[in-house]
Amino acid sequence: MQKLLESLVEKHRPAAREGKVAEYIPELAKQDSRLLGVAVVNPKGDVHAAGAYRTRFTLQSISKLISLMVALMDHGEERVFAKVGMEPTGDPFHSLYKLEITEEAKPLNPMINAGAIVVSSLIRGKSVEERAERVIQLVREMADNPEIDMNRAVYRSERDTADRNRALAYFLKGCGAIDDVEETLDVYFRQCSICVDCIDLARMGLCLAQNGVTLRGKRVIPGDIARLVKTFMVTCGMYNASGEFAIRVGIPAKSGVSGGILALVPGRMGIGVFGPALDKKGNSITGIRLLEDFSKKLGLSIF
Ligand code: GLN
Repeated sequence: MQKLLESLVEKHRPAAREGKVAEYIPELAKQDSRLLGVAVVNPKGDVHAAGAYRTRFTLQSISKLISLMVALMDHGEERVFAKVGMEPTGDPFHSLYKLEITEEAKPLNPMINAGAIVVSSLIRGKSVEERAERVIQLVREMADNPEIDMNRAVYRSERDTADRNRALAYFLKGCGAIDDVEETLDVYFRQCSICVDCIDLARMGLCLAQNGVTLRGKRVIPGDIARLVKTFMVTCGMYNASGEFAIRVGIPAKSGVSGGILALVPGRMGIGVFGPALDKKGNSITGIRLLEDFSKKLGLSIF
């Protein structure tokens, strides 16, 4: 496994040239586009990792999984899915386009920005800090790493530049889908800026692979919620490239514009990948190629 991961990093790293780091968040534009790292953790706790697996990066859209789980634990399925749907969109993650389908602006799913903003509005807590802290706390528990925290520079950078997300949030407020634009966005930007490395991501993936039970055997997510979130990973986890990813790679995965991908093989392993050079749809270009190769070599597709 160790040799395989090292060879995959070497083989796919050059493809970074074909992609670009996310530039619309100034702090993310500073990332080194040539990096590629991967970590794999199995239920016995064996960790194999190669490349830039110790480099830290922010969760960005990967946090949409975590906030959804917190909202589901707070309110249950019925209340959450009254406000956000379960269907893939086929549109870019920050699209405004389909929000007008319904009068109440019900975003099609919780993995696009509009849906995730509605989900962040549902997270309970006395203050914005406390609400975001509850998302961070679940990340710490899933990864079994109490040190995990926000990257404040990335948080501020996104908060100060997020015109598109503000546009989405104002539209949602105008339709009665959320109450307060800046408070809701503050929770959302904080969760996006949670900082991890590939091993943290792989442990989080393993927790989902084990239906909500961590590497150390602690249940931190109810089984039905873990199952639901994994299904969203398959149908919407790679934005509008989820269909192609399901065919080529065939495992639940969620990407973020920092270049991270959290992936897993049910019951068998958690996988964390980091490669900040993105393709046109905002997914890690090297990360997807590495995962495709890895999945084909080991026959990991769940289908
Ligand atoms: N924070 C990013 C945004 O809202 C997350 C998007 C992503 O990772 N696709 O634009």
